[in-house]
Amino acid sequence: MSNKRTIDLNFDREHIWHPYTSMTQPIPVYPVTYAQDNVIYLESGEALIDGMASWWSAIHGYNHPVINQAMIAQINCMSHIMFGGMTHKSAVELCKKLVAITPQSLNKVFLADSGSISVEVAIKMAMQYWLSKGVKTKQKLMTPFKGYHGDTFAAMSVCDPINSMHSLYKGFLPEHVFVPAPVSKFSGTFAKHEAQELERYFINHHHQVAAFIIEPIVQNAGGMNFYHPEYLSTVRKLCTQYNVLLICDEIATGFGRTGKLFAIEHANIEPDILCIGKALTGGNLTLAATLTNEKIATGISEGEAGVLMHGPTFMGNPLACAAACASIDILMAQNWPQQIKRINTQLQQLNECKKLNSVADVRILGAIGVVELTKDVGDINVAKIQAYFVEQGVWIRPFGQLIYLMPPYISDNESINTLCTSIYNAINEHHFN
Ligand SMILES: *Cc1c(COP(=O)(O)O)cnc(C)c1O
Repeated sequence: MSNKRTIDLNFDREHIWHPYTSMTQPIPVYPVTYAQDNVIYLESGEALIDGMASWWSAIHGYNHPVINQAMIAQINCMSHIMFGGMTHKSAVELCKKLVAITPQSLNKVFLADSGSISVEVAIKMAMQYWLSKGVKTKQKLMTPFKGYHGDTFAAMSVCDPINSMHSLYKGFLPEHVFVPAPVSKFSGTFAKHEAQELERYFINHHHQVAAFIIEPIVQNAGGMNFYHPEYLSTVRKLCTQYNVLLICDEIATGFGRTGKLFAIEHANIEPDILCIGKALTGGNLTLAATLTNEKIATGISEGEAGVLMHGPTFMGNPLACAAACASIDILMAQNWPQQIKRINTQLQQLNECKKLNSVADVRILGAIGVVELTKDVGDINVAKIQAYFVEQGVWIRPFGQLIYLMPPYISDNESINTLCTSIYNAINEHHFN
């Protein structure tokens, strides 16, 4: 199966951007030829145990025979067909499944081509809804600090202003209302002053706020903060009370990662608008979705525009929809809560890292394990640690002060052990303090 051609790393270095990289000081990239289950094979022949699931997405691992078969069957019909004025079985089947597994009120689906776009669409839905009601003052969003919602401009405008360097785009980026990031820990007690503080923001700003956007329970790229469900249920309550729509961004947390199928279930709430992506296709193709309820959908449709003003070229791509249908079927057919629980038990080994001087915190939720260092790893050290991990036969990509794991659900106990041990050794041997 291995690809014999060599991958031209010189060309890559000279001409190709990777995520968040420099063209003058590129950090090394590893050429991959093949991936199977939870193992990634480099061109050099090394096999790496995957700790990242390709950024939350490859929940069933790589090269899954059932998903492959579903994609091949779809390719043999058509890989793509325009969604304007046409529909197809894979889109209809997928949306049926999405309506069935998400909260009951969410029954209108917009298929988007990436997570960021699903957030753009969610924002448009909220704006168009209020305009359709003749409310012209609600032109802002409210969101906690430390959030992450994607890299396109509207999505970026609700990301943490410091992490996403809003300073670079001052004057161009819309300015929204930021509220304090959730502080109370997921499994601790909820500090009531957080609710009081939130309410102050709602009192002061609700007349200009169309929607509150938040990642339920896990603020991921903004610091892997696992917060208290009562923060989320308080936000839901205040949104209803002050006439603000609630957008929940489950792009990272959806499909079981936190131990619930969707993280909103930890707080028992239903948002007005829900964004999903990443694991939607089991990490096989880019696809996301924005779901909303009858009220918002009807509002938009009866507004001035009369339609939802969005429609990307590759909307409802059949191949991606076919992969998503297969991925959801695989997930639902297995005892996924048991899988997550098993991985959670294995991840508890990370608590050993608390003994190390350079470790500030260890936290574990569902199939997510996070080791927070006392200091930022820095670009140079990321390259160094990355090389160390590759030597150890694991794929783990540190980020800022965080070394974290979100392995495919199919990872066996031995793989998780190896991942955890590698993190302990990396910190112990590299002395980050
Ligand atoms: C990854 C992510 C996005 C952006 O999705 P893309 O597919 O990278 O555009 C948005 N929100 C959250 C919570 C994410 O984790």
